[in-house]
Amino acid sequence: MSSYTRRNRPDVTLTVTLTPPPSSSRPLLPSEEVAELRHLLDDTPALLILPTTVRQSFEQYRLRDLASYIRIGSVPLVLLYVGVVLVGTLLFGQGVSAEDSQLWRWGSIFIGLMVACGLLPVQFAAGRRYYTPLITVIATVILTKLAVMPNLLADADLSACESYLCIITLIIAVLALRLSTIRTAVICAASGMLAVTALLTGFRVTPDWGLMAYYFVCPAAVCLFVAWLQERQEKINFMQSLLLAHEAADREALNRKLDRLAHQDALSGLANRRHFDAVLAQEWERLRRTQRPLALLFMDVDHFKRYNDHYGHGAGDDCLTTIGSAIAASLLRPSDMAARYGGEEFVVLLPDTEMAGAIEVGERLLAAVDALAIPHATAQGTRHVSLSIGVAVRTPASTRDSNTLLDAADRALYAAKQAGRHRVCVEPGADTGSNTGVDANGQDLPIV
Ligand code: GH3
Ligand code: MG
Ligand code: MG
Repeated sequence: MSSYTRRNRPDVTLTVTLTPPPSSSRPLLPSEEVAELRHLLDDTPALLILPTTVRQSFEQYRLRDLASYIRIGSVPLVLLYVGVVLVGTLLFGQGVSAEDSQLWRWGSIFIGLMVACGLLPVQFAAGRRYYTPLITVIATVILTKLAVMPNLLADADLSACESYLCIITLIIAVLALRLSTIRTAVICAASGMLAVTALLTGFRVTPDWGLMAYYFVCPAAVCLFVAWLQERQEKINFMQSLLLAHEAADREALNRKLDRLAHQDALSGLANRRHFDAVLAQEWERLRRTQRPLALLFMDVDHFKRYNDHYGHGAGDDCLTTIGSAIAASLLRPSDMAARYGGEEFVVLLPDTEMAGAIEVGERLLAAVDALAIPHATAQGTRHVSLSIGVAVRTPASTRDSNTLLDAADRALYAAKQAGRHRVCVEPGADTGSNTGVDANGQDLPIV
């Protein structure tokens, strides 16, 4: 018997079909946007204008923050309101003019209604959708009322009390509501102008400009400055977190790519030998526990040296790539695995597969490569590139003997070569049921 032995070439790879890498759950930022963010973070100009898409997500992030602030702050706000009304009633219930008392009472009721209008919608999804415009209107109305009141009240203490309330409300509106600084500045400017207009035209009262500067203009300016600093810092933090997330996603994608390359055979796109060895050991162990059969198909391209000699090494490489794709496409179960073992040798691992099933897959692979009809002018017997396939099946008995399966498939491949190539043969002495291997014409072959 002439010897046909599988040469071990550790420098050459043989592989299994690789599943495509899972796509990243977080989309990467476009590179122009990354460059723009980095530029902004390097320069940090006083007026930080975010790129459009980043601005939108920053606003959404602030809005989410605002909604949670309002949910958390609702109870303290109501308590503040009740406290102010109670203390005001205790302090100014008597001893002030009827007109002042009426202004205080109706003013308090009005503020209560406005606060309720601001707090109730946040409990419902539909209300939350229009929260920013709603809060803008309510804050403007409340601030207008509070800016007007100190000018209308005759009692100096009550007027001072209203101006303190105006300052507290400004702090809440500008710093706690977390609207954008520009929007808050517009709210302050609009309520100031509305208050002056109402005083001059509605109430026909000349505003006390000095007083207004103390309780409205100066606190608004200070709060707006703090809000601007706060917003600017938040923008910087937001951009940094975006870049960090982007870099993490980038690194993850690179790791996946490296991982894939470490397991993949570059020429055929199938798994490489290292990955195949790992999967063989893993499947061997798994099926040892379940006592199910593991089948292995060892394949070798026939007369490939002649192909290279006749068509050139480049054409030989293309041929191996095409055969690799045909092998991968012929496997139907997700658990089946194809690999390039080295040179023009391929292997297929079929977990949970009996001999009859393995031979069927072998025939399918033989037919798939025949269907490619890659011309091979110097082949013997056929005029196209063909495979010889050796099949072996084992039900793993001990952890260490997975090589026996490989050796048995190698012996079956040798048998196929000896029998004339271009066929499927099973390992000598195997129980094949009715199937003993086929030649290219589908004729049963004796087992060597
Ligand atoms: P047999 O039918 O007995 O298998 O004959 P063979 O010519 O296919 O076998 P042999 O072992 O004599 O030659 C294998 C050839 O495969 C030799 C080598 O040039 C070629 N080969 C191995 N790896 C590659 C590769 O990556 N690319 C190309 N183009 N050829 C390769
Ligand atoms: Mg070979
Ligand atoms: Mg060969």
